[in-house]
Amino acid sequence: MNKYQLMFSGSLASAITGILFSFYGLLVKKVFIYIGLALFVGGVALLGRWITKAYTYICKDCYTRIDIGRKEALFAPPAGAACRRIYCPKCRRKTACKARRVSLRRYVF
Ligand SMILES: [Zn+2]
Repeated sequence: MNKYQLMFSGSLASAITGILFSFYGLLVKKVFIYIGLALFVGGVALLGRWITKAYTYICKDCYTRIDIGRKEALFAPPAGAACRRIYCPKCRRKTACKARRVSLRRYVF
């Protein structure tokens, strides 16, 4: 376990707990909706941060390596197998970029 594996499972756990809390809030006590939403948003934000660390994207047109931000990590639309449409600074337009997993093994506690 390193901190990025922890980050990944933590973000999923937080998002799922958030959904459960929201349902509980809908059915039983309204205040839990807000706690649930906060947990969910926090979990998704953490997951986005994890994606920016765990993946790097390669532009298919010019082979530039692109490090994406959190916003793109969460909202960039998919474009075929393991590809997403991401703005390439070299092509100056959105291109289909291939995802490449970054080894996080070097980030040990
Ligand atoms: Zn490009």
